[in-house]
Amino acid sequence: MVSPAPPDSKPSQSRASQAAVTPTDPAPPRTILALEGVTKSYPSGTAALRDVDLAIPEGDFVFLVGPSGAGKSTLIKLLIRDEVATKGAVLLDGRDLARLRRREVPGIRRKIGIVFQDFKLLPHKSVRENVAFALEVTGRPRRDIGPAVDRVLRVVGLAAQADQLPAQLSGGEQQRTAIARALVHDPRLFIADEPTGNLDPLISWEIIQLLLRINEMGVTVLMATHNAEVVTALRKRVVALEDGRVVRDQTAGAYHRED
Ligand code: ADP
Repeated sequence: MVSPAPPDSKPSQSRASQAAVTPTDPAPPRTILALEGVTKSYPSGTAALRDVDLAIPEGDFVFLVGPSGAGKSTLIKLLIRDEVATKGAVLLDGRDLARLRRREVPGIRRKIGIVFQDFKLLPHKSVRENVAFALEVTGRPRRDIGPAVDRVLRVVGLAAQADQLPAQLSGGEQQRTAIARALVHDPRLFIADEPTGNLDPLISWEIIQLLLRINEMGVTVLMATHNAEVVTALRKRVVALEDGRVVRDQTAGAYHRED
């Protein structure tokens, strides 16, 4: 029969086991998203992305900038598998998106939350119903949906507006609703494609603050934007595309190159 350890041996045992699981050099964060030699040519012959390499570690906040036509939307379409790379690999959490089986696509897509410049809300559904609908279509049990929706509405600060229709909301509140809807799946990667394009500067800052909070909750954020003021002020990582190529990848960068 094994006798229990004497009480006075417990502290040293727990310290020892802690030391075993807490290395002095923490492992680097895993790469949530990687593009390896990605080229995307449309049937028209336009090469929208050319030999793009990009690695985004989990927890990063990345601005994607570049002039119109540079390839930003194409890159985002590859991430949500609206398009497939012509050459190279797009890896989300280690999975090559081009090699997914059809039935695996919805599950992988749910690792990504996405919002756009236009909020794409359902006009005849309330804020709560818009967010809940995103879960209903995935077959989530009804009893889980209410609490999940309430939680994300609190995160985006819309608990009081839950029963209003989109037309009764300001632009900023509509974008918050879209953010709540994207967040309700607990995504690992949050993509914001020009999220402040339709909003005035003050409201834009509120939306950016919200994205920063989502990032602090541990979600990786990739934001495509033309908002030079925001990019330059925040000193986050900046990936600049031009003519389908990454021309700059800078930690703590500005919107424009600063030589
Ligand atoms: P951005 O989002 O930076 O404005 P896009 O990814 O939309 O850039 O476009 C990159 C290039 O690919 C442009 O030359 C654009 O005209 C072209 N392009 C985008 N979508 C398509 C498409 N569906 N068919 C053909 N060409 C396209």
